[in-house]
Amino acid sequence: MSILIRNVFLEGQNVDVLIRGNRFARIAPDLQEQQAEQILDGTNMAILPSFFNCHTHAAMTLLRGYAEDMELHTWLENHIWPLEGQLGEEDVYTGSKLACLEMIKSGTTFFNDMYWHYPGTARAVKEMGLRAALSSVFIDFNDPATADMRWEECQELFQSYRNYSERIIFALGPHAVYSVSRSSLERARDFAQKHRLMIHIHLSETQAEVDQARKSLGKTPTQYLNDLGLLGPNLCACHGIWLSREDMDLIARSGTPLIHNPTSNMKLCSGQFPYPELSGRGIEVGLGTDGCSSNNNLDMLEEMKFASLSCKARYNDPTIFSAGEAFEAATRAGARIFGLEAGHIREGMLADCILVDLTHPQLVPDYNLIANMVYSAPGDCVNTTICDGRILMLDRHIPGEEEIISQARETAQKLINSRAN
Ligand SMILES: [Zn+2]
Repeated sequence: MSILIRNVFLEGQNVDVLIRGNRFARIAPDLQEQQAEQILDGTNMAILPSFFNCHTHAAMTLLRGYAEDMELHTWLENHIWPLEGQLGEEDVYTGSKLACLEMIKSGTTFFNDMYWHYPGTARAVKEMGLRAALSSVFIDFNDPATADMRWEECQELFQSYRNYSERIIFALGPHAVYSVSRSSLERARDFAQKHRLMIHIHLSETQAEVDQARKSLGKTPTQYLNDLGLLGPNLCACHGIWLSREDMDLIARSGTPLIHNPTSNMKLCSGQFPYPELSGRGIEVGLGTDGCSSNNNLDMLEEMKFASLSCKARYNDPTIFSAGEAFEAATRAGARIFGLEAGHIREGMLADCILVDLTHPQLVPDYNLIANMVYSAPGDCVNTTICDGRILMLDRHIPGEEEIISQARETAQKLINSRAN
């Protein structure tokens, strides 16, 4: 498959972009002699890297708006967990398809997911054409029988995940230090080392989590993970709010990336991400939306804006977390964390990109395209989304959109009915 995008705006000039297979093959001001199976007119459009959502729970789109304006533990234990307990693989498939639809519509082509019923999400990724790192969730609350059962499940998934799509990266998902036993964390560490896998974990999201770790383990969650040999570039640590100076030093020294989830953190009042202290230490920071029950959408444009503004407000400094840094965190940082040759519109890189409509009122005038993307534009400024050299959305149209929406509505209704009974 080849695609030629003519006359599209890229870094200060209009160019033609030729995609061959799943990579950018040629980029130059005039590729008149080149032929392609599909030709797109890029007039009045800019080509940009697509977004990397580095922490989410995709199927939770089904819980969007279900339990609102509550304290975190009441919300989780009395509302979210009981409803989640009723979800089966088909529900997860339906919710993940809705999530993929929403992500493609707002220019995201990669997501790092942690959720139950892995095959449901994997099928959605395969059909919708995105890339994803899907982690096998692990929660055992120190119960050896549960730990063994989860471990077996994880091994089975590792054997079978390749059957779904080459665009899926298998990862391990020990949920958090407080919900996973030491022996399971050690198992995850050894398995990840052996098979060179990423580990996806929630780290120091709430103050209560850190207080509990200090009490029961005598150390912070970060120190604990460091002592277990889990810190490192393959540990994707999400939230990272309540970190001591020593924690930050350990994270920096080990090359552990952190994922910032500003909207979820604000909505649940989990705390403020210490971005300047982390970026000052050279820590790689990616951006994620978290699940739809605490966001309530998967729009990375909105996430960039919240990341930047919440940081400026907290530190009372308008110069920090610039538009350029927010855009970097939402695109290239994610690609680097997951070892993907993407995030740049450059010959030889993976063809994961978006075409943005420069006639959208919120992108006019265009003194600074990146500032417009971060501070002004809504998700619907994305006209076309391309992942792995395939067009997933063209002129804002995605095949099968109506069925995905009606299916999600039906599933949500079924969940509510079963709760009522
Ligand atoms: Zn999360």
